[in-house]
Amino acid sequence: MIQLYIPLNFLGVLYREIKQSLTDLDKMFTLLEKEREIADAPDARPLRLDGPPAVRFEQVRFGYEAGREILHGISFEIPAGETVAVVGPSGSGKSTLARLLYRFYDIDAGTITLAGQDIRQVTQASLRQAIGIVPQDTVLFNDTIEYNILYGRPDAGHDAAVAAAKAAHIHTFIDRLPQGYGSMVGERGLKLSGGEKQRVAIARTLLKNPPVLIFDEATSALDSANERAIQAELQRVAQGKTALVIAHRLSTVVDAHQILVLEHGHIVERGTHPQLLALGGVYAGMWALQQSGRDAATAAAPEPVPA
Ligand code: ADP
Ligand code: MG
Repeated sequence: MIQLYIPLNFLGVLYREIKQSLTDLDKMFTLLEKEREIADAPDARPLRLDGPPAVRFEQVRFGYEAGREILHGISFEIPAGETVAVVGPSGSGKSTLARLLYRFYDIDAGTITLAGQDIRQVTQASLRQAIGIVPQDTVLFNDTIEYNILYGRPDAGHDAAVAAAKAAHIHTFIDRLPQGYGSMVGERGLKLSGGEKQRVAIARTLLKNPPVLIFDEATSALDSANERAIQAELQRVAQGKTALVIAHRLSTVVDAHQILVLEHGHIVERGTHPQLLALGGVYAGMWALQQSGRDAATAAAPEPVPA
């Protein structure tokens, strides 16, 4: 019995090992597949814009890995020149929406259009020229702080970089560095705090002044005094532009033309701030919680209740 048991058990282990390797291999090919997709279509054309475009998501489905869908059929429109805000618990898919609009990844189903043009049919360069993104976690280039600010418009010049830095409340900080705007930053240079990096990204976006804006919790790493000041600046630049604003604090989205509430990759509520309050649902609950001082926007999602 024992003699028989050992080899069989060994075979079981071996079988699991092989199966796991095949799964990993499968995952690797899926990843390669995704990487490969982000290339210009053979007949890609530059994005054609006259003024800020409308943005449209239609039945968008997406997962980072095969078999784990993150967004389950998302549809919404940002009319030209308007602001749509997205709120919802951490992990609900808000940043993923932002990354898809910038085309860091291609979607699995549905369409995303800008001014009626499928973002997979236009050149990446022209798409990214039209969009300014302040991501949740900014990674700086290993270069000077001025290079990092001028990145979206390298020929804008020093004075423009200073003006943008002032608007993003980072000028005084830069000015005090021994090398000033020539200070090296990034992995191999000066290590900036999360809030400082975020302000560099904001300065870059203000300077680039694109027709489409994406703010992904753009002021989440700032202290509240800085956050209020910069929030006002961001709202000012978003005037008349098409903006997707992912909100950390609900107080920053009350003026949005529309607010989407995202949960587990589904839009569960949509409307203006007063409409959503009147609805008395998820958003109204989040608002009540934040008014009482707790941070509902980043709290964990409640587990779905079994039927
Ligand atoms: P939010 O911004 O609302 O907090 P995200 O869009 O960042 O949520 O993430 C949504 C889901 O996608 C989460 O379950 C997260 O773990 C997953 N996810 C995010 N980025 C990746 C990635 N690069 N690879 C795999 N899964 C990811
Ligand atoms: Mg996020």
